[in-house]
Amino acid sequence: TCDVRFLLSAGGSGRGARRRLDAALAPFLLPPGTLREVRDKMRAELEYGLKREAQGKATVKMLPTYVCGTPDGTEKGKFLALDLGGTNFRVLLVKIKSGRRRSVQMYNKIFAIPLEIMQGTGEELFDHIVQCIAEFLEYMGIKGARLPLGFTFSFPCRQASIDKGTLVGWTKGFKATDCEGEDVVDMLREAIRRRNEFDLDIVAVVNDTVGTMMTCGYEDPNCEIGLIAGTGSNVCYMEDMKNIEIVEGNEGKMCINTEWGAFGDNGCIDYIRTKYDREVDEGSLNPGKQRYEKMTSGMYLGEIVRQILIDLTKQGLLFRGHISESLRKRGIFETKFLSQIESDRLALLQVRRILQQLGLDSTCDDSIIVKEVCGVVSTRAARLCGAGLAAVVEKKRENRGVERLQITVVPLPSAVCSFALFSTVLRETVKELAPQCDVTFMLSEDGSGKGAALITAVAKRLHNVGQK
Ligand code: BGC
Ligand code: MG
Repeated sequence: TCDVRFLLSAGGSGRGARRRLDAALAPFLLPPGTLREVRDKMRAELEYGLKREAQGKATVKMLPTYVCGTPDGTEKGKFLALDLGGTNFRVLLVKIKSGRRRSVQMYNKIFAIPLEIMQGTGEELFDHIVQCIAEFLEYMGIKGARLPLGFTFSFPCRQASIDKGTLVGWTKGFKATDCEGEDVVDMLREAIRRRNEFDLDIVAVVNDTVGTMMTCGYEDPNCEIGLIAGTGSNVCYMEDMKNIEIVEGNEGKMCINTEWGAFGDNGCIDYIRTKYDREVDEGSLNPGKQRYEKMTSGMYLGEIVRQILIDLTKQGLLFRGHISESLRKRGIFETKFLSQIESDRLALLQVRRILQQLGLDSTCDDSIIVKEVCGVVSTRAARLCGAGLAAVVEKKRENRGVERLQITVVPLPSAVCSFALFSTVLRETVKELAPQCDVTFMLSEDGSGKGAALITAVAKRLHNVGQK
């Protein structure tokens, strides 16, 4: 049987163990003052990124998206959407009806992207994408249709119009060669041409945050922020044109893709990074980059947990001091395990069963510690994310010059966001750090793919870009 309080109450070696555990986890418990500093530093980076002189220098890149309008219900037609950037690649057919019976219907198919393609050559990657599109068109029986297409591409892109986007750098699990500095729309067009089987009218390239924000524009005009805490981490929001120095014009608003995942790449939050964060960073595909993302998003949280567990095991506090083969394996703690382990509904015995599945033989005390570690890591992620979001909503409040701001944030449903703990802590933190903003969180139903189709529809309506 289990003595849950063993670690807390036992004398002698028990107390020493607790002390060492506390010492390992202490750097994760950011005090309110530190969180306010993080908020203020984020705010400064957001402001700097909008300046002309910051181009190519800012860590938080604040990329203009050329998305200026939200759907108004008059959009209609059939659209294709592609969604690339997480763990899977999706192709969607989206049918939008306007008028009183307006509705959005979607059909989609999910394709895996093998690791060797994510990290192979750019040509292979785009050929694979086009291969998936071909299968989808075949399957739906619409190969000859030449539909307008919106491309959700969830990586930092510098845009000069809505249908052009130069990849600044890969993030997350992607590292295909010969893509950085290239226009991803051109690469897609070329791959379609190489295949020479069908044609598509590529109208828009959009970040997933932007697509997410768009899906709720229909229902709520206050919805001006899109948040992703998934495999990666990012936020977009509607900014006043007059504040966007590199885009001509002072009227109206444009959506800015902040690319806040790179916050801290200049070292400004290094003082809150732990040795575990540094290890995760060094073992990643892009060392030194996306430092904030690596403390807050799904792709890395499990790795932080693993690094802590290795350290605790070395200290003899876990797994009887034995580092198993499984624990040495990168990526064993997927986000879904984390959220299960940290959930209060899960009994310790079930935690042990999960650890067992991962090849980790645990005692009851081990499972208590693992659960605590998971909780600490995801709580920090949520608080950091909340501090960032507080900076964004405060900026919006000041832009508008109001005492109180009502604003809606659209988070993409994701593994991380669905942690009960994560979303609770995120909300609490924003409330605490931006007390003059009333933030409503509105779940986007179908995520970024539908958003890409809606943006394509809006672009078609407004600018009539692409061919008719
Ligand atoms: C990318 C962003 C993206 C985010 C969420 C980050 O790694 O740089 O463009 O929005 O992940 O998918
Ligand atoms: Mg301007």
